[in-house]
Amino acid sequence: MKIFLQLHKNKILFGGLLFLAALVVLGGLYVWNLEQEPELRVYFFDVGQGEAIFINTKNGEQILIDGGPSNKILPLLGRVMPFYDHSIDAVILTHPHADHVSGLIEVLKRYNVGEVIESGVDYNTAEAKEFEDLISKKRIKKIIINKPAKLSFFKNATLTFLSPDKYFEGQILNNVHDSVLVSELDFEGKKILFMADAEKNLERYLLQKGVLEDVDVLKVGHHGSKTSSTADFLKTVKPEYAVISVGAKNRYGHPHQQTLSGLETIGVQILRTDINGTIILNINGGQLTLQKEK
Ligand SMILES: [Zn+2]
Repeated sequence: MKIFLQLHKNKILFGGLLFLAALVVLGGLYVWNLEQEPELRVYFFDVGQGEAIFINTKNGEQILIDGGPSNKILPLLGRVMPFYDHSIDAVILTHPHADHVSGLIEVLKRYNVGEVIESGVDYNTAEAKEFEDLISKKRIKKIIINKPAKLSFFKNATLTFLSPDKYFEGQILNNVHDSVLVSELDFEGKKILFMADAEKNLERYLLQKGVLEDVDVLKVGHHGSKTSSTADFLKTVKPEYAVISVGAKNRYGHPHQQTLSGLETIGVQILRTDINGTIILNINGGQLTLQKEK
């Protein structure tokens, strides 16, 4: 059984004359921008060694998946969000490791966040605790994923959570990567699979469960580590594009040559934030197009 979540828009606009004046001045420009803007855009931000993915729809619905390792996320969001927009509908924490949660602390401080979606797994670090404390302090709605769930938003867009399908809330795990939120975005027939830091164990589990399918874009698990992206997994998800979120010269040796070779074997186009900078996928009229910063 699936639970159905409806994304509640949480838009708070500036009041007052300043805003009205700005609206009048920029009105023409903004209308022009809307015309140029695709229906749905996914940004794989270049946050260095870590991960932050931003989904933005033409009508201004926004979902942020992880925040990267630092406050670098703030200027990146500032560049792609309208100047008057200080709210994000949903923030998803895939797991509480520092390279995913740290930037979200800054996001919770600066933005009005509609809801936080997470596994609730217990993780005893200062960053993870600060993130949880901020959710409580700011009374942000928290949704715990412990069974398959679907988030519906803009024009039949869906984000389906494939994992976790177990209760991890309050639990301490040997490997937090077993509890990551894996999700699939489906819009106008295009599919993007976000593996977060999922490793072999979770890939195998999802394969056995039969919930993985042929997708257009794969956000490669765990920064291209050799502990992810097995041949069996790639054979099932068969992406056209593979995006690796990774920092230049990181101390983990990500992405691993073995993973890159595996991806090359299936003939996928590889995109890397360390080489290409921020990577943007546009979906418009059922077509998927790609933009790279570098
Ligand atoms: Zn990570």
